[in-house]
Amino acid sequence: MLCVDFLNTLYKLEINRTFIEHQKKYAIKKLNKYTNINMKNEKKIDPFGFREYDARWLFPESINELGIESVGKGFGTQVVKKNKSPTVIVGHDYRSYSENVKKNFVKGLMSTGCNVKDIGLCLSPTVYFSQFKLNSDAVAMITASHNENGWTGIKMGIEKGLTHCKEEMSDLKDIVLNEKFVSGSGKYEEIKEFNKVYIKELTKNKLKKKLRVVAACGNGTAGIFAPEILKGIGCDVIELDCNLDYTFPRYNPNPEDMEMLHEIAKCVKENNADVGFGFDGDGDRVGVIDDNGNEIFADKIGLLIARNISNTHKNSKFIVDVKSTGLFASDEILKKK
Ligand SMILES: [Zn+2]
Repeated sequence: MLCVDFLNTLYKLEINRTFIEHQKKYAIKKLNKYTNINMKNEKKIDPFGFREYDARWLFPESINELGIESVGKGFGTQVVKKNKSPTVIVGHDYRSYSENVKKNFVKGLMSTGCNVKDIGLCLSPTVYFSQFKLNSDAVAMITASHNENGWTGIKMGIEKGLTHCKEEMSDLKDIVLNEKFVSGSGKYEEIKEFNKVYIKELTKNKLKKKLRVVAACGNGTAGIFAPEILKGIGCDVIELDCNLDYTFPRYNPNPEDMEMLHEIAKCVKENNADVGFGFDGDGDRVGVIDDNGNEIFADKIGLLIARNISNTHKNSKFIVDVKSTGLFASDEILKKK
């Protein structure tokens, strides 16, 4: 760039403009050529993108297409080591570049011998559900969850209903960075309209009493699921930012973010709703607001669910996450059951 800037300065000084103009064009061309070579032919992966339970990068700043392909090869290698000729289900969230990221990830997966079933635009829970419904050996979801536009990421799992744990993530990082890939040749299949199967399953049970509900999606992917599912079980739904827009013009789809929670609370009060739900970008987290506009913390919601499940499953064990308080252990109703 220095060279172009220097020529610009000379241009301003009006020293032989035709010559300078020619030199400037040449310098820009050379610079672009160099950048393109770097972008297209050199793999870029920031090792810090491999996190404890999933992976996340700025695309294409911290990982490029070739980098994503390598992560696909790495995950494929892990899957092939566990199952011969395995099937892997993939899906993606709604961002301008998610399909492109998925395409490169799939390319990597197939090169290791994994057969790919692509369910398209969906939520992370849709992918986990599909593993049981379509009986696959592994799943991968291209999503940056609640992160702002510009981020991409991958949530992966091999065991049914489980995502990669710490050890599996560090194994993946080692395979990818040291290129310890296996090779094979997998097939590709597009599964059309799987979202309808998912929505049908979730609307099987209906509410006994009609509820007036605010569904807030922050313009994330959950917008094409949450209102339909809530209506399907018998709710009267007030939609808040449910149209898809990956620029997230109002706020990030993050139900832990006060901005989103305040908007939901306002909407609940204005519409006299019974409850408000705020979903994150890929629909695997929810924030709940009561009829007075107050946030109900996650462990209280967990306790309500646990009490409900304990009616049908006596003497069951409940696993709660590290963020929960002692509420579960001290609850008298839960103790009795
Ligand atoms: Zn999420």
